[in-house]
Amino acid sequence: MPDRAPALPALAIEPHPARVSDADRADRIADPGFGRIFTDHMASAVWNTEQGWHDARITPRVPLQIDPATSVLHYAQEIFEGMKAYRTADGAMALFRPQENARRFNASARRMAMPEIPEALFLEAVRQVVATDADWFPGVPGGALYIRPFMFSSDVRLGVRPASEYRFLVIVSPVGNYFRGDPTAIKLWVSRNYVRAAPGGTGEAKCGGNYAGSLVAQAEAIERGCDQVVYLDAIERKWVEELGGMNLFFVMDDGTLVTPPLGGTILPGITRDSLITIARDEGLTVREERYGIDQWRADAASGRLVESFACGTAAVVTPVGEVRDGDSVFTIGSGGPGQLTQRLRQRLVDIQYGRAPDRHNWVESI
Ligand code: PMP
Repeated sequence: MPDRAPALPALAIEPHPARVSDADRADRIADPGFGRIFTDHMASAVWNTEQGWHDARITPRVPLQIDPATSVLHYAQEIFEGMKAYRTADGAMALFRPQENARRFNASARRMAMPEIPEALFLEAVRQVVATDADWFPGVPGGALYIRPFMFSSDVRLGVRPASEYRFLVIVSPVGNYFRGDPTAIKLWVSRNYVRAAPGGTGEAKCGGNYAGSLVAQAEAIERGCDQVVYLDAIERKWVEELGGMNLFFVMDDGTLVTPPLGGTILPGITRDSLITIARDEGLTVREERYGIDQWRADAASGRLVESFACGTAAVVTPVGEVRDGDSVFTIGSGGPGQLTQRLRQRLVDIQYGRAPDRHNWVESI
């Protein structure tokens, strides 16, 4: 679909008439948790068939008025992104590879028959809403502003067809650690009853429906005392794909890393891509190849596999300690965080926080 609007460098800013008081804000960000509290402002823009993208602005974060017939409520034509603003060592705020989020957002838009958004508008909306609400930055360990750009069909009309109007919004949530209590290693539940994605489906798009479909499997995982679901491929039910919201890596005893290849059913994680680059920069071998659940169990038992970890913007790099498959359980390495996992995590966060050289120009000051 064409995006007819020219790149919009600056958004009109409508400041909030009644911001939360300094004391109240300090109280809220003292223990932010994840995704529970939100800042005062949001960015928004509208697309319609007549005007393309228009009306881009920063406004107070207010409830939306949605007609009950709004198409997203019925057909779930919705996509989103997840990214963070970090506070770097010099006290500035920075984004990590934000252009990759803009590109993935547009890839998701294409898959869901939605209009693409000019990258400049996406990036400017993100930067300006973060700059406007910079005083919400939480000073807690691992603290960041989690940024949620999203787009949905806003036609007031029933009938399954692409909409003639879409809304783009960016909201911001001050966050601490993703896993409450910051577990040293997570436990995974192998989903045998449900798959996340199938060839030709929407697995590589970041659309809300993928996450709605994962909730029943996640409930099963929690019931079995696990933290996250590990999904297998839809055809052979054999190959390890990813978690509900994170990509997976396997560390072999010779220091080689293995991660499932992107083939349309896996979300192309920006953390995944960054870790592949960081590992290769360190001289490690990274193989993007299929890895079977039976192999994983056998390699964990024989000691050929020494570590496994999950990665994503929210969870950063999180060690996997245990995998539960039906009634059987296998432990990875010592069951705690592995050495290479910790080293790669450290390398990544050192770049994100401006403490290590940014060889690939990944960090962008706001
Ligand atoms: N897989 C899924 C299904 C996800 O939702 C996410 C989070 N966006 C990831 C992987 C990790 O992606 P990223 O590193 O870009 O956050």
